[in-house]
Amino acid sequence: MPYTVALTGGIGSGKSTIAGAFAALGVEIIDADLIAREVVEPGTPALQAIEARFGASIVTGQGTLDRARLREIIFQQPEEKSWLNALLHPLINARTRQLIAQAASPYVLWVVPLLVENQLQHQADRVLVVDVDEETQLARTRQRDGLSLEQAQRILSAQATRQQRLACADDIIDNSGEPDDALPQVAGLHQRYLRLAATKQD
Ligand code: ATP
Repeated sequence: MPYTVALTGGIGSGKSTIAGAFAALGVEIIDADLIAREVVEPGTPALQAIEARFGASIVTGQGTLDRARLREIIFQQPEEKSWLNALLHPLINARTRQLIAQAASPYVLWVVPLLVENQLQHQADRVLVVDVDEETQLARTRQRDGLSLEQAQRILSAQATRQQRLACADDIIDNSGEPDDALPQVAGLHQRYLRLAATKQD
């Protein structure tokens, strides 16, 4: 398996922006959010199982999963979340491992927004946290998504705290400055990861 660096950070911290900088250096990006969507695409066994459990109204007119409706069901019946996790986690895990195994770059960057919340940090060789203070997170998220302060704060408070995330970090990128300020940090880490990948014992 290629050496795997997990990249995480709170909402609006700059994960996608930083992942883009690694991708520009030729590093393959594996996106946990994309995989989570892929396993419930129309026609998949997982979507069929979800429809069998929650009824046809869980699927939209276009045949896709109605995520808002599913969120609502789980909110009202928390026990259903365990059922859903038992269905989806093995599928997501298997697909993630397959993509990592297929990767052609010397190491892969596995972008996992909820790494700490879902305790996935031990599935990576190394954990990289994109860090900004909460004020910056709120400001950038609000500007990007047009959210009120309350809406942005609600999302933030449902996530791990900055301290919890930093406690899991092997490496940290400070993304509080101008976008270009992160580039030398990315370049330095890229060299470090190339060295670590070259010495990884499979
Ligand atoms: P999410 O968790 O919501 O998916 P994210 O962690 O992937 O977010 P990005 O989408 O990369 O974060 O960045 C959030 C917003 O902040 C974007 O609009 C991005 O363009 C902007 N941004 C990222 N880095 C900087 C920076 N250093 N300075 C100013 N703006 C930035």
